Amino acid sequence: MKKKILTGDRPTGKLHLGHYIGSLQNRIKLQNDYDQYILVADVQALTDHFDDPEKITENIIEVAKDYLSVGINPNQTTIVVQSQIPEIAELTVYYLNLVTVGQLSRNPTVKYEIHQKGYNEAVPAGFFCYPVSQAADITLFQAELVPVGDDQLPMIEQTNEIVRRFNRLYHTNVLKECKAILSKTSRLVGIDGRSKSSKSLGNAIALSDPPAVIKQKVFQMYTDPGHVKASDPGRVEGNVVFSYLDAFHNDQEAVADLKAQYKRGGLGDVVIKNSLNDCLQLLLEPIREKRNSLDNKMVEEILYHGTEKAAQLAKETMKMVREAMCIQFVWHINNTK
Ligand code: ATP
Ligand code: MG
Repeated sequence: MKKKILTGDRPTGKLHLGHYIGSLQNRIKLQNDYDQYILVADVQALTDHFDDPEKITENIIEVAKDYLSVGINPNQTTIVVQSQIPEIAELTVYYLNLVTVGQLSRNPTVKYEIHQKGYNEAVPAGFFCYPVSQAADITLFQAELVPVGDDQLPMIEQTNEIVRRFNRLYHTNVLKECKAILSKTSRLVGIDGRSKSSKSLGNAIALSDPPAVIKQKVFQMYTDPGHVKASDPGRVEGNVVFSYLDAFHNDQEAVADLKAQYKRGGLGDVVIKNSLNDCLQLLLEPIREKRNSLDNKMVEEILYHGTEKAAQLAKETMKMVREAMCIQFVWHINNTK
């Protein structure tokens, strides 16, 4: 039996280069050797978009198209719509008893996101608890590996704490611990220099962006504010263009040469931006073409069959979970009327 993988994305917008480098590339590789499930996490997306459910629903198909256009193969990978698997919600409710508010409030990613969204004390309880629902996602699908960006490490840790607590408490081993799989670039910076490019911050290059938008975003990138004239020596550290060249250029020797020249002085921002634009255009053109060839109905069918298959596994896991927790209420009345 192949080991299982679970990962997913919130349908809050189209996927971007951060997803590609941080997680999608690993998923494409791993799908050959593992039983991989990818969740389009629409329920999780509602935790901070509950006032705009239409946007989330519309983006389910867009995210699925992103998967297919980069090379996720629906014959190898099961793509699942989270809201159509109610067992996730049930398992989340059980797990909420196994974590404390104190533990949840120490999660560094959630803490940062609460600050970034300006929630302060008014954080929706659903948002505050979303790491618990992620633990339900991972364990319901019995996943042992989770290819993610490094913002997700606290969620993996939280999942394993719940798994250990559950197994100890109910004297069982039905739940499996999981391990994160990180890529070489486990956090791609935003084009504005912020530490992570993300859909919500609008500081990312989408996999489906047209050529002119890619170029415009590359030329908007934060470089070195001290590098005013081309002849000035420039900084490579914290320079977004070089972070992207490191991540995406397929000739790292050429990138090392550009860095050396930039540091010495004599290399303008336009040259490095043109070089990055060329390599991103090459990378994204076939992805965009594949995307444009996808038919909505066909994508929906892939989602339907993936979700159906996942529902079976969800039922099997929940049966084991309920048995372990002794939640096996049996009706003794005749309710056939
Ligand atoms: P949102 O702003 O709505 O939270 P997002 O851009 O952060 O969207 P998610 O759907 O939250 O994307 O993340 C899905 C997966 O992609 C996660 O595994 C996450 O770690 C990874 N990921 C997202 N952004 C990046 C990034 N900039 N670098 C590396 N990995 C990333
Ligand atoms: Mg996110």
